Amino acid sequence: LRDRLKNPSLLREACFIDGQWSGNPETVVTNPANDVELGRVPNMAAAEATEAVEAAQRAFPAWAKMTAKQRSNVMRKWFELIVANREDLALILTSEQGKPLSEALGEVDIGAAYVEFYAEEARRVYGETIPTQRADARLIAIKQPIGVCGAITPWNFPNSMITRKVSPALAAGCTVVLKPANETPFSALALAALAEQAGVPNGVFNIITGDAPAIGKVLCEHPAVRFVGFTGSTEVGKILYRQAAVGVKKLGLELGGNAPFIVFDDADVDAAVEGAMVSKYRNMGQTCVCANRLYVQDGVYDAFVEKLAAKVAAMKIGDGTEQGVTQGPLINLAAVEKTERHIADAVKNGATIVTGGKRHTLGGTFFEPTVLANVKPDALVAHEETFGPLAPVFRFSTEEEVIKLANNSPFGLASYFYARDLGRVWRVAEALEAGMVGVNSGLITTEVAPFGGVKESGLGREGSHHGMEEYVEIKYVMMAGI
Ligand code: ADP
Repeated sequence: LRDRLKNPSLLREACFIDGQWSGNPETVVTNPANDVELGRVPNMAAAEATEAVEAAQRAFPAWAKMTAKQRSNVMRKWFELIVANREDLALILTSEQGKPLSEALGEVDIGAAYVEFYAEEARRVYGETIPTQRADARLIAIKQPIGVCGAITPWNFPNSMITRKVSPALAAGCTVVLKPANETPFSALALAALAEQAGVPNGVFNIITGDAPAIGKVLCEHPAVRFVGFTGSTEVGKILYRQAAVGVKKLGLELGGNAPFIVFDDADVDAAVEGAMVSKYRNMGQTCVCANRLYVQDGVYDAFVEKLAAKVAAMKIGDGTEQGVTQGPLINLAAVEKTERHIADAVKNGATIVTGGKRHTLGGTFFEPTVLANVKPDALVAHEETFGPLAPVFRFSTEEEVIKLANNSPFGLASYFYARDLGRVWRVAEALEAGMVGVNSGLITTEVAPFGGVKESGLGREGSHHGMEEYVEIKYVMMAGI
């Protein structure tokens, strides 16, 4: 991999603590497309995590005291370096994660967009003045950085999940200790190398790789840490939530979803098929906002299934760095097995495989993108997130019925529907129990809008000016004796 990078110094086999690159490269990181070793990263644990937190704690006062404009300038530099190195960052990303290079470039771009957005937003952390209730007093509320922040990120977006947390933190004046996913540490370390080059002061942004539970425990329990931002599974999110209770820490959680994707009779079916393609098969179905359950109304059911299956069957599968590939390998065998389990369960209960349905002849973790028709409402895939390239298409008759089906889940992250009737659009958008609704769009993530879930899908929002709120505390000041 190093030989293919224009800037080989982006591939770092060390952790970044207090401005120093440290640790022995021990843990092997492989390419999911061919199982070839890409490099090694340190296997750190509680002691090093504590060291990193303490470095962040020492760095905090000076970083917090800088003017917003000064912090903004450093972040702007970081943004420019990410953009200048976007091709290398995308190649590192595809090599360790598997997504097609075009998608990796897209992720690096939105990753950079978070840095840019929060570099701008740094200067708009406004407080308020409050009409007083006492003649001799004046009341104000100011916003201050919350303090040292922990961040724990997943493998499915190895770049943008980092910048989406670290950028608002740095903009607000916080310092950060980040633990990236063990599958994809190199994207994170490359971002740190660029942050260092941009002039982010020592200890302001630290990255540590290794034992996730041990590092996670320190981030949740060390008294200096005031906020932990996590994106990952609901299971791990609940562990962190419990751990954070000990020190009453604020938590941001972006957890699992089970997104419904609804197509009504009045929809533009071709547009709905396009939307389903991006929503379902982006990143091989491995995003928390991927359509997991497709509900299609009677009148357009057959046409939708036929058109979707034709597009899915035409996708090109292979190593994400190859020209024209639209589906790479899944992250690991467990992901393949879960997809197989969902298919087998649906088929056992009467669903039909319209296209795909099995492991790809390329071997490894390559899987054929799949469409299932006539799936029953109680199928396993209606209740569990597949996180793989499987589109189960359910049939429904009425608006009331489908809203009930869609909301019958403990999760509530993204949801999507296609319809043209204005009344229906409002009714359904308001009725869906989800943090995000895409109406006639299968792709909704942008740095300018609040991303997050309801119910067991999480707490808090990332992106937009709302994303900054996680990283500040409100301090109320009464000035009396006037
Ligand atoms: P996924 O199933 O997508 O891998 P995880 O929730 O297991 O999702 O992983 C998301 C992130 O959480 C990764 O960085 C992983 O290393 C980390 N992680 C896993 N287990 C724990 C834990 N017990 N405490 C803290 N972090 C953890």
